[in-house]
Amino acid sequence: MSLDILDQFHDPTLCKSVLERLCAALNGQPLRFMEVCGTHTVAIFRSGLRSLLPKEIVHLSGPGCPVCVTHEAEINAFLDLAEKPGVIIATFGDLMRVPGSRGRTLKAAQADGARVAVVYSPPDAIKLAAENPEATVVFLGVGFETTAPGVAASIKMAKAQGVNNFRVLSFHKLVPPALDVLLSDPDSHIDAFILPGHVSAIIGLEPYLPVAARYGRAAAIAGFEPLDILQALLFLAECRRDGRAEVANLYRRVVRDEGNAKARAMLAEIFVPADALWRGIGLIPGSGLEISPQYAAFDAKRDFGIEIVDCPPLPGCKCGEVLKGKLAPNQCPLFGRACTPAKPVGPCMVSTEGSCAAYYKYQVD
Ligand code: SF4
Repeated sequence: MSLDILDQFHDPTLCKSVLERLCAALNGQPLRFMEVCGTHTVAIFRSGLRSLLPKEIVHLSGPGCPVCVTHEAEINAFLDLAEKPGVIIATFGDLMRVPGSRGRTLKAAQADGARVAVVYSPPDAIKLAAENPEATVVFLGVGFETTAPGVAASIKMAKAQGVNNFRVLSFHKLVPPALDVLLSDPDSHIDAFILPGHVSAIIGLEPYLPVAARYGRAAAIAGFEPLDILQALLFLAECRRDGRAEVANLYRRVVRDEGNAKARAMLAEIFVPADALWRGIGLIPGSGLEISPQYAAFDAKRDFGIEIVDCPPLPGCKCGEVLKGKLAPNQCPLFGRACTPAKPVGPCMVSTEGSCAAYYKYQVD
C-alpha cells in the first residue's frame, strides 16, 4: 500500500466530514461502544481521536490486551516453572512485569536467579533450546488468534529440526467466546463493538455473526487509522439509528471475510480448544487453545504436570471490572496513586496496550 493511500486515513477534511455525519447519526443518543483490541485502545488515544469524539460516545476498552487477560493463576504457573532447575523460560518482554496473585513477577524471579530470557519470536526460543541442550526451554504462549498461528508453526519447526528440549506453555485465548460472555451479562450495557483487525485477519467475519443474530448488537471490524475508527463508529451509530443489528467488515484492505484459512489450518493441526481462565472474567468454556495429543512432546503443561487453579485477584486491583467495561481505569482507587506505569499494580497498567496505561499516559482525568 502506498503512503499516499495511508495519508487519506489521516486526512483532517475527510475525518471532519465523517465526524459530522457521526454527530448527525447519533442524534443526541448515547452510544456505548467497546473495542476488544489493545492496538485500538492505543490508536484511539494516540491519534487524539478520543478527545474529539462527540460527548454521546462512551468508549470502553474490553478484554483485548493479551497480557491484561492472562490470569493471575497462569502467571503463577510461569513463576513456578521459572523456579524449576533445568528450565529456561523464553518470553516476550511484555510479560516480564505482569504480577501473579502473590504480586511476584518474572522480572523479580529473574533478579533472584531464575533463567528467564526475553525473545522476539518463537523461533528465537527454538534457537535458545538448540544452544542449551542441557536445559528445557519453555516458551510462554499468550495472546489471541493473531499470535497463536506463529507459535503453532514454531512447534512444527522444532519437530522438523529435532529440537526436543523445546516446549510451549499454551495459554492462548480466543476472542469470540469472550464476546459471548460480555454480552450474556445483564449488567454489561455495551451497545456495539469495534472488532479487532488483527484477530479478524485470521478468523474472518463469520465467528462474530452471533453478536448481531443472538444479542442484537452491531459490530464492525476496523483498521487502526483515525478514519478507520471514525467510519466504524459511523456504521455503529447508523445501525442503532436505523434499528439494524449487523456485523460488517470495514477493514477490507487487510481482512478477508473468510479470514486466513491457512493460518486456521495450522491452528487446527497443533491445538485443540480448551476451557481457559481470563483475568477478571473467570473460566470461559472453549475459549483457550491446548496443544493437541499429536504434539504432546512439546507441551509444557503435560511435561511438568501443570494444573491451573483459579485464585483471588490482586488486592485492590480493579482490572477485572475495567476489562468488562464496568469501570473506567481512573475510577479505580489506586489509579495514578498506588498504581502508575513506573510502579504498576495490575496488568492493565503494565502493558503499553492496557487501558489503565493509556489513561495514565494520555492524562484522562
Ligand atoms: S489502575 Fe492499576 S490497580 Fe487499578 S485497575 Fe488499573 S492496573 Fe489495576
